[in-house]
Amino acid sequence: MRAAVVRSFNEDLSVETVSDPACPDNGVVLEVAACGVCRSDYHGWVGKHPRIENGSILGHEYCGTVVEAGPHAMHRIGDRLIAPFILGCGSCPACQTGVSNTCERQIVPGFGWPGAYAEYVAAPFDHNLVHLPETMTPALAAGLGCRVTTAWHALTDRANVRAGEWVAVHGTGGIGLATLLLAKMLGAQVVVVDVVEQKLAHARRHGADAAVNAAETDAAEAIREIT
Ligand SMILES: [Zn+2]
Ligand SMILES: [Zn+2]
Repeated sequence: MRAAVVRSFNEDLSVETVSDPACPDNGVVLEVAACGVCRSDYHGWVGKHPRIENGSILGHEYCGTVVEAGPHAMHRIGDRLIAPFILGCGSCPACQTGVSNTCERQIVPGFGWPGAYAEYVAAPFDHNLVHLPETMTPALAAGLGCRVTTAWHALTDRANVRAGEWVAVHGTGGIGLATLLLAKMLGAQVVVVDVVEQKLAHARRHGADAAVNAAETDAAEAIREIT
């Protein structure tokens, strides 16, 4: 298959022909339909992630169609699936108590396991993968498994945000913008904080109720005044 491979940090990825991934017994091989680009990929690309080295294939925000299924897989060839970036084992105490993100046997394609900047990606522990709705385009879906789930966890499981409350979002990158959109969906009001004026304007166009440029003002003080 063709894949975009890390050869030297800070250099263009190298598009090469590499071996097709082997199908895990407990998982599937997906033909990748789309894969998001994440700040974590950047950290790997510049050499600041311990699991990224010469030969690594990045890409952990992917969706695609099953082309091969292992004997213990729960999905079938032809299924259109989307994955969370952490694939928990499903059987350890962490997985059994709903915190599979702390699973000690977790596999993260793109970090220590070949990722989805490729035609195909192997996904073990395929109970983590879910069906992609017919109406959702792959490019839209690809971001769901990383930035959107991270934002959703913060807003609901951690902060328990309710309608009418204010949410301050520090940083309007992928996770920040996802947090903004989801917080608005939950009925909250949102103040975004960043140091780049264009990013603040972009967040305003996507529904931010207020914007604070932390390069120009004391952000905590400004948030207190707004809320
Ligand atoms: Zn990511
Ligand atoms: Zn586990």
